[in-house]
Amino acid sequence: MFPVAAQTLGGGDIFDTIQRGNIDQCADIIQLDRSTLRQKGWGGFTPLHYAAYQGNRALTQLLLSNGADSNAPCDAGQTPFHFACRNGNVSIMHQMLQHGADVQTVDQQGKTALHHSVAGGNVLAIQYLQETGMFRFSDTDRFLLTPLHLAASTGNSDVVRYLLRNNRCAADAADQQGVTPLHVAAEKGAIEVSWLLLQEAGLQILHLKNRQGLTPFDLCRQGTTFRHQQLTQILKRFINEPTDQKPKESYGMFYWTLLFPSLSGAVILLVASALGGYGGIFCALVFPWLARNILSQYHRINSYQGLPNPVYVGTLAAGMFHSTVCFYYKILPNILYCTVLTQNPGRLQQDDADPRFSSVMSLVEANEKGSRFCIYCEIFLPDNCKHCRLCNVCVLDYDHHCLFLNQCIGRGNHRLFLFLILSMAAAHLIFLYASACYLSARYVLLSRSAWWTMAAAQTWVLVLTAMNVLTFVWECWLLVEQFEAVSMGSTTYFKRCDRVRRPLWRRWGTAMSFLLEGKRPQPHRVYEAV
Ligand SMILES: [Zn+2]
Ligand SMILES: [Zn+2]
Repeated sequence: MFPVAAQTLGGGDIFDTIQRGNIDQCADIIQLDRSTLRQKGWGGFTPLHYAAYQGNRALTQLLLSNGADSNAPCDAGQTPFHFACRNGNVSIMHQMLQHGADVQTVDQQGKTALHHSVAGGNVLAIQYLQETGMFRFSDTDRFLLTPLHLAASTGNSDVVRYLLRNNRCAADAADQQGVTPLHVAAEKGAIEVSWLLLQEAGLQILHLKNRQGLTPFDLCRQGTTFRHQQLTQILKRFINEPTDQKPKESYGMFYWTLLFPSLSGAVILLVASALGGYGGIFCALVFPWLARNILSQYHRINSYQGLPNPVYVGTLAAGMFHSTVCFYYKILPNILYCTVLTQNPGRLQQDDADPRFSSVMSLVEANEKGSRFCIYCEIFLPDNCKHCRLCNVCVLDYDHHCLFLNQCIGRGNHRLFLFLILSMAAAHLIFLYASACYLSARYVLLSRSAWWTMAAAQTWVLVLTAMNVLTFVWECWLLVEQFEAVSMGSTTYFKRCDRVRRPLWRRWGTAMSFLLEGKRPQPHRVYEAV
């Protein structure tokens, strides 16, 4: 018969057709002459070899259902099933088994289907074969190569991990030439695989020699690529350490990456503050560099251990750390609490005295109250001014003497005082919300016993929550009082006595204008101390 019998009138060369993935044409060819399925091409490959090699499921199904043989060996003794295992498509492997594939066939090198699937690098396919119960991971080929040797030669760390797990393969097994998996990995410059093998078998495998008397370290040093140089550096560190030890994981790089955003941020901010007026420009130039440096990092840090990259955790922590420090060191002391504590509340100076009066006599003649004269400061008081006996000063626009601040609240700090109360109320509200979230996430409070359990275990949170509730209620009352006074253009001590109550929107306007601009409407009515 003519050797190109497959090139029939129906469609052409079956191998070509399979490589093009043309299923319809393939079906035509097979229908015309089923013997094409037994035809062997280059290397003794059958059409099924090609389909399995490509991992074309539909095509494999077509060939199998038309009687293609999964066990037909090629010139090297490898069957289409071996090819399917190497490709790693579990569905095709399963199809072949259902069509009578012999799992235990070995090729001319003595490699089993398991060896082929390991070389292919698909862990799922390896697991599938292992589940058949027909293989041992200690099986070697004719040259005593174990599956681990093959995995190390591909550099596939997933497969190496799988084979080392549960002692599936011995990490120090030597082949005919005395070559261990570490020899193979080191010769390839496979850093991650070498690290996994050393972690499993300890540093003693670093000193095992092959038939030529070479250790893995010797083989690695002969390599010329960057990977070989990196691996040589790593192995060099361990070569003089005791052989019964395992290489210690190094977390230096991990912690450096974790702290990098905080530390670099701190350095930049310190330099910026030292530069004075040029600090802003410096930050504008350097912070984009920092952001780019962080955002361009991968999910794993660039080390042989391949640890998860903590740079984003570090960035978030840096944000919280720097904001907290800035808030407590700069904003809070300067803007609110300390300023309210230390700022002049509006002490009455000699120049501020009411010019209309020069003596008590003139006061009496003008029919003014005697309280216009401060008997402690001996000064005539303008409107809305009162002497505080605790502070021993007269205070303009006197509101009250705050015991919590040990300070008078008056013209100089009244607005700031309101901001302080507002920010405290907001902070307490945030605390209450957060503690409610925390407790509701931890406890299902349906029964009385659940409440007791919570009360016993969470006293810290509960006591503080209760105190925060009380403080918040008190702050709300304080704010209502303050709004009442401020919205009338007055203080809580000198409440304005309007005959006609002003509409609410106008009072809001007055309060907002005071809060935002610090302006009070000019007094045009009589004020009365209450
Ligand atoms: Zn006084
Ligand atoms: Zn006072």
